[in-house]
Formats: sequence, C-alpha cells, structure tokens
Amino acid sequence: MQQATAREELLAGNRRFLAAGMHSHMLHAERVVHTGVFGQSPSVGILSCSDSRVPPEIIFDQGIGEVFGVRDAGNFEDVGATATFEYGVAALGVHTITVLGHTKCGAIDATVSGQQLPGNMPAITAAIAPGLVEFMKSTAASGAKPDLTAASEANARWQAQQLMARSALLRAARASGSLTLLAAIYDVDTGVVRFRD
Ligand SMILES: [Zn+2]
Repeated sequence: MQQATAREELLAGNRRFLAAGMHSHMLHAERVVHTGVFGQSPSVGILSCSDSRVPPEIIFDQGIGEVFGVRDAGNFEDVGATATFEYGVAALGVHTITVLGHTKCGAIDATVSGQQLPGNMPAITAAIAPGLVEFMKSTAASGAKPDLTAASEANARWQAQQLMARSALLRAARASGSLTLLAAIYDVDTGVVRFRD
C-alpha cells in the first residue's frame, strides 16, 4: 500500500468486503510463506475497538502482514498503543495510522452515560472522557439525546491527537511527511467505513 493512496486503498478494501469480493482470503497461504521467510513490512497501523464486530483486516480486506494493529475497548490511546505504533513506524515502515471508531460502541456509551464500571474498567472511560468534553457540552446545550455515532467520531479524532501529543517520534514522522494520520468510523449495521479526520 502506498502512502499517497492509503485512504483510497482502505476504502477500496472496504468496498470489496461489502461486495463479498475480498482478495485477502485467496492470498493468506502465500503471504504466510512470504512473511515467514522475509518478515513483515506492514504499511498501515490501525487503532481500533476490541468489539468483535470490527475486525480491521476483514472490514478493509487486508491480508497477512498488512495491518499493524492495536485494539482495546473504545480504541483509546495509551502509552502501550503509542509505543506500539512508534515501533511500527520506526522499525517496520508503517506510513499511515488510522484510528477507527465505530457505531454502537459500548465504551463510548458507558463514557457518555457516565456509567460506574467495576474492576479496572474505569480506565477505559477515563481515557475517553477528556476527548468528549466539547461533545458533552454541546449535547447538554441542545437538550438532545447524545448521538453516540458523533461521539465515536469525536473520540477517534481525539485519540489520534493523543497519539501525536504523547509521541515526539510520531510527530516528527508526520512533520517530515513520512506518516499520515487518519480517523474513521465503521458502521456496524452496514459494514461501511467513512473517514472523519
Ligand atoms: Zn467499541
């Protein structure tokens, strides 16, 4: 995948997925052999939700060795995610990072509704809430029911900013033009990806 056309190539992959014309399945065995011998050189990093309905390789029709991924509930940035993408960019040749949110996200719902979660789960909402301050203000001002899709979009953009805020390495790569940062939203009802950066 070329950096200049990564967005279009991901969208083309999403269209193949929607049309049941996926390329990746035919290529898995060949790519296992190739990447086993020559190693990996993924060009795209994706920070996406752990939601089982949103597997990045499938919805973008990507094969073995193509996506360097981090997943957690709510696709939130933390030091582990950022360090992982630094490795992807510095050592593997990742040139495009996409933060992929989705509709009907439980982590977003829990954050917006202020749910009190047990165990370590408050770490999820604590990582999401700061990026939704403006969203919550405008929702409260309008008196409308929170639009969870809009909240997921705001979160994807916010988490992309957090990757840059934490990482001088990623900022330098972006400033030099060797890294593209994207944000997108996946619709769990239709399978359609839309870029929202
Ligand atoms: Zn989710």
